[in-house]
Amino acid sequence: MAKGFTSKLVHFQYQQDNQANNQSFGSIHTPIYNSVPYGYQSVEDIMDVFQGKTKGHAYARQSTPTTDSLQNLLTMLDDAFGALTFATGMAAISATFLSLLKQGDHIICSKFLFGNSYSFFTTLENFGITVSFVDTADVNAVKAATVKQTKIVFVETLANPGTQIPDLLNIGDYCEEKGLLYIVDNTMTSSYLFSAKAAKAHLIITSLSKYTSGHGHVLGGCVSDTGLFNWENYPHIFENYRTGNSKGWGLQQIKKKSLRDMGGTLSSDSAYQIAVASETMALRMDRQCESANKLAALLDAHPKIKKVYHPSLESHAQHEFAKKHFKHFGAILSFDLEDDVELVEIINKLNIAINATHLGDNRTLILPMAPTIFYEMGAQNRKTMGIGDKMIRCTIGIEDTQDLLDDFTQALQD
Ligand SMILES: *Cc1c(COP(=O)(O)O)cnc(C)c1O
Repeated sequence: MAKGFTSKLVHFQYQQDNQANNQSFGSIHTPIYNSVPYGYQSVEDIMDVFQGKTKGHAYARQSTPTTDSLQNLLTMLDDAFGALTFATGMAAISATFLSLLKQGDHIICSKFLFGNSYSFFTTLENFGITVSFVDTADVNAVKAATVKQTKIVFVETLANPGTQIPDLLNIGDYCEEKGLLYIVDNTMTSSYLFSAKAAKAHLIITSLSKYTSGHGHVLGGCVSDTGLFNWENYPHIFENYRTGNSKGWGLQQIKKKSLRDMGGTLSSDSAYQIAVASETMALRMDRQCESANKLAALLDAHPKIKKVYHPSLESHAQHEFAKKHFKHFGAILSFDLEDDVELVEIINKLNIAINATHLGDNRTLILPMAPTIFYEMGAQNRKTMGIGDKMIRCTIGIEDTQDLLDDFTQALQD
């Protein structure tokens, strides 16, 4: 039996088909099942599926054999109890919070969040859910923000664009002690670089649009349950979903209340694309992260660069943590140009990097932060979030490392 990350990954779907008596003729990829309804010979059989007595598919908004297979694959990668896939990462995030929270609840989030997640949490405030955005680099900030109504603590493993890393393990211990639901967005590190379960995360959220699929060609999201949370103590599980193994209650509720009722469903076509592309995830990330380390060192030593943000650098506040707990330091890297260096000119001189907003792509992408993603929020908010006027984000692709280094060297030359 294969043991390594990639060995397990590339054999997974074929082995599953073997175990299912070659239902898919030994196909090494799970086929794309695009049927919307699923028919049954006897009406008792479909009754049992509706009542959850037997496993089966009824209508593609909830599941298909293709999305099921991807869910099983992601469960394996996260070493989880189970997983649900969604049309996008944001669909996974919104589904999770909307199905587990009620008016009057309070949640604690990192203040260095993916912009659209931050925006979503401010929407929750319109529904009577209060949110504290704190600097989660120190668990004490989470402790200080906790109130009687607190239900969830939400962090991202590696922030974009500033590369801040939360106090992941201590927050896990604290949530365990207090019975708080700990949700970790592992998109930026992925299950390859970091086991969120080892940090005692209860739910792991991953945008499959990023490193998991990697080619910038498909959207998807996932929430997996590590099985570490005691759902019997969670007050908002509806009576209907308090059935079967209690480890599955959370996902059961997210599936019914969000996937079924709100419909942010991943298509079978996309599930297939993601599963195939995920096979090279570790190979891609090894290259991307190695290039990021080298580029970070090059930029760090360059007179035109004021500051580089990358956990590989000893100057990074969580360098030691990342060295110990992440497989690599990640493939996102940001930097501030010196005040007198022309931002537009430098970016336009680069030949390899594409001016585009995305990350985890096979291609290196570059974007100035203040005039784009952080433009709408205004100068004052940018300042409090540490987004300087000359900050550039670079997400490293799989191009040959030397080509990348050469390109940045020429772009920074006088
Ligand atoms: C991109 C991203 C998301 C959202 O994912 P989509 O698939 O684009 O909806 C969520 N969290 C993080 C950290 C991301 O980088």
